Amino acid sequence: MAKRDYYEVLGVNRDAEEKDIKRAYRKKAMSLHPDKYDGPKDEGEEKFKELNEAYSVLSDGKQRRLYDQFGHAGVDSAASGARSADPFDFFSSIFDFDLSDLFGGGFGGTRRGGSPRQRGPQRGDDVVLDLELTYEEAYDGVSKKVTMPYNTPCKECNGSRAAKGSGYKSCPECRGAGMTEQQVQRGFFVQISRQPCKNCGASGQIPEKKCRTCKGSGKGSKREEIRITIPQGINEGEAVRVQGKGRPSNSGGLPGDLIFRIHLRKHSVFERNDLDVYSRIEIDYPTLVLGGDVEVPLISGKDTPRTGRLKVPQGTNINDVLRIQGEGFARKIRGNDVKGDAYYVATIKIPDKVGKKEKELLKQLKEL
Ligand SMILES: [Zn+2]
Ligand SMILES: [Zn+2]
Repeated sequence: MAKRDYYEVLGVNRDAEEKDIKRAYRKKAMSLHPDKYDGPKDEGEEKFKELNEAYSVLSDGKQRRLYDQFGHAGVDSAASGARSADPFDFFSSIFDFDLSDLFGGGFGGTRRGGSPRQRGPQRGDDVVLDLELTYEEAYDGVSKKVTMPYNTPCKECNGSRAAKGSGYKSCPECRGAGMTEQQVQRGFFVQISRQPCKNCGASGQIPEKKCRTCKGSGKGSKREEIRITIPQGINEGEAVRVQGKGRPSNSGGLPGDLIFRIHLRKHSVFERNDLDVYSRIEIDYPTLVLGGDVEVPLISGKDTPRTGRLKVPQGTNINDVLRIQGEGFARKIRGNDVKGDAYYVATIKIPDKVGKKEKELLKQLKEL
């Protein structure tokens, strides 16, 4: 059975705020309580389960984002798959296209993780591509241009495969059936597998004289420049969707979407955790002991390097974690600015060389 939309289950809008989701959940949960629900018991339980599932996803910011971007496929596999394992696993299980798919064309593309085929026009498949960003690009958000190849009907023959004035004849490979059969021996059984005929593109007919431009394939290609706007604060594993720029439909439906899966390149200083950033910072011995403040790098956009002052409390130890609030990544979440923090792990700075005076002082210190 197809799963219902989670927003529909809770009866809230897609842009509902957290508190509205909570309220809707409470109200629905009450009405499904065994003492109150007056339908069959099984039905009530089923609905309650559905409600809980919807709530658990929509009340969790990260899960909700995934659901908004990928629907049930995004959160289902994330929930059932090994949560502890590679968090991007579920992507590879539902999307395994590559660029060559776009050239491939072919027959009735594969719908992955989708609902069973229905009659009538089918939407084209989504195409998923990987896009690597630097921390700086992710910090500010960035606009990128990507040139994509698309299949189009051949311009010369308009996709008819035939040269001007040529007629058609029955395809000799499939004898006009459009499908070829192959017998495969499996133990005692002979399995017959039927496939669309490649020779005639499953049409059962081939042109008497092939179009010279497309060599009878009926296909051409065009390149299109696509601009992607990547929002500020985007993180590893998230996706940016460009509507209608995926694969064209084979049956007159809408084209699929083009989805960019975001990867962040490793940074030389910072490591990111959600909106927070971590780095190690060398602090000299006197400052660790006496306290003070030191200049530290802050995460920033590409053209706007920034530094900040980190307060080092008296008696700071190596591996103590110090924080500057609000200096991590920032992003807009449902209209609100949300900021992470910058964390610094203290390490000690040992000077390469010490002068005569420092040596004297250190000796004195040791004797104390
Ligand atoms: Zn054929
Ligand atoms: Zn042609």
